[in-house]
Amino acid sequence: TVREAGGNNIVSLSKASHKALNRRSVVEKRLLLALDQRNLDVYYQPLIDTASKKVIAMEALVRWHDEEIGTVTPDELIPIAEETGLISEIGMFMLEKACLQAVEWHTQGHDLKVSINSSIREFRGKNVAKTMLEIIERTGCPTTSIHLEITEKFALEAESETSIMAQMRTLEQAGISFILDDFGTGYASFRYMQLLPIKTLKIDQTFIASMLKSEKSAQIVNGMVQLGKSMNFSVIAEGVENEEQAELLQQFGCDVLQGYYISKPALPSELKAFLK
Ligand code: C2E
Ligand code: MG
Ligand code: MG
Ligand code: MG
Repeated sequence: TVREAGGNNIVSLSKASHKALNRRSVVEKRLLLALDQRNLDVYYQPLIDTASKKVIAMEALVRWHDEEIGTVTPDELIPIAEETGLISEIGMFMLEKACLQAVEWHTQGHDLKVSINSSIREFRGKNVAKTMLEIIERTGCPTTSIHLEITEKFALEAESETSIMAQMRTLEQAGISFILDDFGTGYASFRYMQLLPIKTLKIDQTFIASMLKSEKSAQIVNGMVQLGKSMNFSVIAEGVENEEQAELLQQFGCDVLQGYYISKPALPSELKAFLK
């Protein structure tokens, strides 16, 4: 049994929820340590320009293998980090790493942007924009090389929180661009597409996955591409796994492709050959 926060009710938990709570607190404890020791890894997944077939950007994705609890996937890690507030530290860690990596790629002659995923919780912290800009400046990475990926849920909530909108504007004015990630899965609203400083739509992988199996899905993807283009957004498709999908997306006029067909997320050392 546990005492409910702020109340006197004693609730009895099932074995399953006990296990979940335990797991959560173990993950949280190990995560604190991992952040302290900067023991998380950053993998990068290339994005290619449909027309030139050149790599134009790399998305930074967190990877964590803990020596005690093993590999923790982002799908488990991110929600726990959001609940505990550790997401801000993950965000800053990822930003710094990705900026340093971008600088290294630039030095090697690869003109690449880096894309970092942001959770709304990070933007509720104090002076996020200022902290981010300080980190970026320290690394020497041009702000124009940085993209931040936000989800529709983020966008929907940001729309009614003036302080978050202000932080986004500050970052935009400093040269950073925003990408609307997982487009189509949430609450796609024309209002926030207009209000927020978003330049790019990334069509969610579930639509790409069903595109060849159902005519309807293909039409939806085509519709999303046309909508994006007519609003002057650049359009990315994620989760592209085969040549047929890539060809169809190119026919639709999709600007940028990302997915296993091009490359899985990997360490920079593993992407060297790919960049050549
Ligand atoms: P996302 O940003 O939408 O990233 C795309 C996910 O799809 C990644 O999973 C990627 O590895 C996977 N993926 C890429 N290409 C393909 C493909 O062709 N087929 C399939 N089936 N999957 C593909 P991952 O790395 O497990 O990340 C899952 C989610 O966790 C991300 O979705 C993002 O929302 C979140 N995430 C990852 N890293 C971070 C981070 O550093 N900060 C925050 N806030 N969230 C992160
Ligand atoms: Mg993303
Ligand atoms: Mg996505
Ligand atoms: Mg996703």
